[in-house]
Amino acid sequence: MSKSKFSISISYPPLINSKGIAFLSQNRQFQWTNTGNYIYPIIPAYAATLLQKNNYKVFWDDAIAQKLTYFQWLKRLIKNKPNMIVIESKTPTIKSHWQIIKNIKNLSQTKYPDWHPKIVLIGDHVTAFPLESFDNCPVDYVITGGDYDFMLLSLANHLTKKTKLEPGFYYKKNKKIVNSGPFALKHHNLDTLPIIDRDLTQWKLYAYQNTNYKYTPGTYTMFGRDCWWGRCTFCSWTTTHPAGSFRSVSPKRALDEIGQLINKYHIKEIFDDTGTLPIGPWLMEFCQGMIDRGYNKKIKFGCNMRFGHLDQKQYDLMGNAGFRFILYGLESSNQNTLDRIEKRTKVQDSRKTLAMAKKSGLEPHLTIMIGYPWETEKDAQTTLNEARQLFKDGLADSMQATRIIPYPGTPLFKECQDNNWLLTDNWDDYDMRQPIMKSSLSPQQQEKLIQSLFKGVLTPKFLIRKVLSIRSPADVKFLSTYAYKYLKKLKDFPSSKI
Ligand code: SF4
Repeated sequence: MSKSKFSISISYPPLINSKGIAFLSQNRQFQWTNTGNYIYPIIPAYAATLLQKNNYKVFWDDAIAQKLTYFQWLKRLIKNKPNMIVIESKTPTIKSHWQIIKNIKNLSQTKYPDWHPKIVLIGDHVTAFPLESFDNCPVDYVITGGDYDFMLLSLANHLTKKTKLEPGFYYKKNKKIVNSGPFALKHHNLDTLPIIDRDLTQWKLYAYQNTNYKYTPGTYTMFGRDCWWGRCTFCSWTTTHPAGSFRSVSPKRALDEIGQLINKYHIKEIFDDTGTLPIGPWLMEFCQGMIDRGYNKKIKFGCNMRFGHLDQKQYDLMGNAGFRFILYGLESSNQNTLDRIEKRTKVQDSRKTLAMAKKSGLEPHLTIMIGYPWETEKDAQTTLNEARQLFKDGLADSMQATRIIPYPGTPLFKECQDNNWLLTDNWDDYDMRQPIMKSSLSPQQQEKLIQSLFKGVLTPKFLIRKVLSIRSPADVKFLSTYAYKYLKKLKDFPSSKI
């Protein structure tokens, strides 16, 4: 079948900021970062692949990972003149994206009158506030919900073949903004998607600069959408993939994709970015398949997991199946906070789970947050002390500390509105550099605590254990890269003036 003339650009325009590089795609919490990490945007990569399979011409236009300047990017965009430009945005970048959309529309109308690009915004922010973008820029379509791949195919077919739009679109009709109904995800069967075309989506851009890989080249998969728990009140993915909408590919399909990554691309490590990897029979079948197919000898695997859901036998199976990196949201070591944010784990679950994961040879990573409106300095200190102790006891290998941000669309944002906790509605400020919610801790105290968390885990005992764990040149390379990025990470949270 010949290719359609209709062309689609999946675009991440350069976002220049003195604070760092936009860590935008597939990141629950946006940051301007100095680490140089890049995350493979998996759902947009599925979208590119699905559209190409349906004979649309697709441009993979990640100018952030390609390190283009704004003018280099614009020049290339104008050369390609795509019929549809898709831009993923998050709260701290939405204002920049409005400006970019204005620029593109202005250019096309004044200098290139034969070019009429349809511009589409996707992401959690526009899912929460779909109308706002129409008030602030000449966007053509806003997609709500997180299945951009299925939705973009629906839109491309609608524009070229006049088919009916799925629910979840906002657009202009007769100068009014209308929508096609509330988005629905459950009928999107992930097993019907083509396996991601890694060449089309320039996998090498994301294969090396990422501390989730110890062995490179590495890559990302996303076998589920997004999290079978889906209830944490701060989690921006609950806006795009609400609780109850979880789906996954079959274990066989996941294993087939891994086989392709091993044999065709010689990938050494995979991080699966499902919000929480499926557990139960799915996980057991997947692990057994990794062992039966011999993939456990060829590749390392990482995933997001929750505390308190797996037993030692299951962790042992994961260890045997090639799992290495395992990321847990510790968030806080105060039970009141875990209950309030609907984490519904117990403080003591973390230690028990980490001990089991370590026993099976896994390398746990913790994510921790500071700045909950109800937490006192003593509460934050409790978390800091517990994190320090977990590292000292050899139960965790790495961590990430951030300031909690109430992203629009989340229950936490609603709680902030109800309690008058919001300090600003300037979306640019929602980049973790300053507190957004009222707190008994000053901004300086919060920064100091985040810095203390980063520094506090580097105890002599932890460092000696790390040095003693070196077994191969890959370990040396990983540890030195990690140390370098760890120090760079401190730059993402400027030092306290205290
Ligand atoms: S467990 Fe993680 S991915 Fe799932 S809802 Fe909570 S924060 Fe989001």
